[in-house]
Amino acid sequence: MWRRAASLSPLLSPSKSSLLHQGLCRLTFWGAFTTDIMHPAKGGIASKEKLPFITFVLGGPGSGKGTQCAKIVETFGYIHLSAGDLLRKEIASNSENGAMILDTIKEGKIVPSGITVKLIQKEIESSDNYKFLIDGFPRCEENRIAFEQIIGMEPNNVLFFDCPEDEMVKRVLSRNEGRVDDNIDTIKKRLKVFSALNLPVIKHYTEKGKVYKVNAVGSADEVFEQVRPIFTEFWMD
Ligand code: UDP
Ligand code: MG
Repeated sequence: MWRRAASLSPLLSPSKSSLLHQGLCRLTFWGAFTTDIMHPAKGGIASKEKLPFITFVLGGPGSGKGTQCAKIVETFGYIHLSAGDLLRKEIASNSENGAMILDTIKEGKIVPSGITVKLIQKEIESSDNYKFLIDGFPRCEENRIAFEQIIGMEPNNVLFFDCPEDEMVKRVLSRNEGRVDDNIDTIKKRLKVFSALNLPVIKHYTEKGKVYKVNAVGSADEVFEQVRPIFTEFWMD
């Protein structure tokens, strides 16, 4: 039996930034027009013994997604797939798309969906586990649609870390991880992209009753005390 453990996110305001949307997240993925009919690839995920159980972990830059994912992994035994980390690994491995991915990240824009989804797909397919946290993805509706088409399933649920912008800026500027995009200019762009393109994804899943919203202000342990009961409920029976 599935029960709702936290209140639904009431984020229903439409994005006003259609220009941003066109510029940063073009519908280059043709399958996007047939969202409702999903055609999972033969073999791959569909042929796994146990279907994946997928939670998308969303929230703005610095909202604590990575920190909380580490705690969820420790407590509930998930595989943590950070889309940003997978892309940074691509850059570090000098792959053919590395330079383009680096430029995109420096600009705070969104890497083409096909690239990110394939990286995620490879990780899911090669894992023996079936419980996945997908952190920082999908970042826009096109990402979401590409995932659902290529992977052939929707996430089981979505965890959304709700954090005020000034708090996110403060955290990102003080985390000193040496990231090319943790500077004030790129952060401002990332925040714009988040509210224009990522909030519509959260709205979409809210309407489907899949979003668990968590107040991301507080210490990592305090925030985890909101996260823990949500995941406990997922695995109750
Ligand atoms: N990124 C992307 N697609 C993704 C995930 C990340 O294009 O699915 C890029 C994007 O430029 C983003 C950057 O990688 O700003 C860093 O993402 P990450 O999730 O690591 O950062 P966060 O938003 O958590 O600070
Ligand atoms: Mg992260």
